[in-house]
Amino acid sequence: MKQQAIPYKIYLDEAEMPKAWYNLRADMKNKPAPLLNPGTLQPMTAQELSGVFCDELVQQELDNDTPYFEIPEEIRSFYKMYRPSPLVRAYCLEEKLQTPAKIYYKFEGNNTSGSHKLNSAIAQAYYAKKQGLKGVTTETGAGQWGTALSMACAYLGLDCKVYMVKCSYEQKPFRREVMRTYGASVTPSPSMETEVGRKILAEHPGTTGSLGCAISEAVEKAVTSEGYRYVLGSVLNQVLLHQSVIGLETKAALDKYGVVPDIIIGCAGGGSNLGGLIAPFMGEKLRGERDYRIIAVEPASCPSFTRGKYAYDFCDTGMVCPLAKMYTLGSGFIPAPNHAGGLRYHGMSSILSQLYADGLMEARSVKQTDVFAAAEMFARVEGILPAPESSHAIRAAIDEALKCKETGEEKTIVFGLTGTGYFDMYAYEAYHDGTMQNYIPTDEEIQATLDKLPKVE
Ligand SMILES: *Cc1c(COP(=O)(O)O)cnc(C)c1O
Repeated sequence: MKQQAIPYKIYLDEAEMPKAWYNLRADMKNKPAPLLNPGTLQPMTAQELSGVFCDELVQQELDNDTPYFEIPEEIRSFYKMYRPSPLVRAYCLEEKLQTPAKIYYKFEGNNTSGSHKLNSAIAQAYYAKKQGLKGVTTETGAGQWGTALSMACAYLGLDCKVYMVKCSYEQKPFRREVMRTYGASVTPSPSMETEVGRKILAEHPGTTGSLGCAISEAVEKAVTSEGYRYVLGSVLNQVLLHQSVIGLETKAALDKYGVVPDIIIGCAGGGSNLGGLIAPFMGEKLRGERDYRIIAVEPASCPSFTRGKYAYDFCDTGMVCPLAKMYTLGSGFIPAPNHAGGLRYHGMSSILSQLYADGLMEARSVKQTDVFAAAEMFARVEGILPAPESSHAIRAAIDEALKCKETGEEKTIVFGLTGTGYFDMYAYEAYHDGTMQNYIPTDEEIQATLDKLPKVE
């Protein structure tokens, strides 16, 4: 075992926790492209957005200039129930890999939702409550976001209506019951409850659903129900803003020991954990103060950054949401059913998309059997059973550490361990039984959904 000059876990004191979220957009020279009204193709106004989102969240969504937003006291005290989250030095993983690299991970799985999503769920629920709303609607795929939102709504006494992608609803009954424990109502999507759900079912009978479909249903429900707004757990600028708490804590913990990372790695679904983790580091990079290598890791079966197109697209399948400019596979893209690792969204945060287009970060895709091999190795040496999503980042961190072993470089690698995988044991089972397959979409398949991109300009 290496000499432990740095503690195994670096915790911050309560007093050292961030008091404001950091808005990375304020330091971006090329701002992320605005959301467009799908009818007029003009930027969405605050008034248009306020039919869907709470007022204060609309302000956060549209604000490209204010660098810091104070975290309201109520949210900070909720954060104290499960934050600060530990920054762990992965001594055991380093030893296992026999690498000179120094590996750290920021662990966000220490709450009942089992992921980082609670950081934004409590913020979004808080502003809904403050506005005097009755409740919120949302979609959930694997279930972490729905669970996080249910927890936040239960805490604040808000009604919570969740459309859960049908295949997850059936495969993950325990997640569903956790949400119901926190008082949410959970409907498998597509459903007969909404017009868009009925339309999708008529066109694709027997579909197992997708995040894009569930978003359409949740938005329709919100805009047609008095006193309700829609909330989204990733992709949006406001979500990345809230998730900056991850990066701010990480940076504070590293600064405490004078550690400067060389490489920062995160898995990327819609981009919220990665956007949050890298925020203060990318800020330094944008201001020319320091340089870091930043790597987004996505599944080979849903490769938005690495094989998608940077274009305006719908955020949902039903095409009811505004258009966002992002790396996208097309809103009709649905990853193969055997894809078990989450990160299934067809698009990517507009902020990260712009940073990637500007060459400020890298992206790579990994196959799911390689992801689960990394997950298993990590579980055995570090003790934590990682979420499949998080394991994409573990894979890339291990690969980078192995490169250091070849070159002898003592790089410092930080990655985001976004959550735990206790509800993903069917996927682990398939991996252990050797039945897990890697499905990589063909160029033709991706082109077919890209051909349906809306015509903008
Ligand atoms: C939702 C989720 C992700 C992916 O979402 P991002 O918005 O890309 O961060 C990653 N890990 C876990 C555990 C999640 O629940």
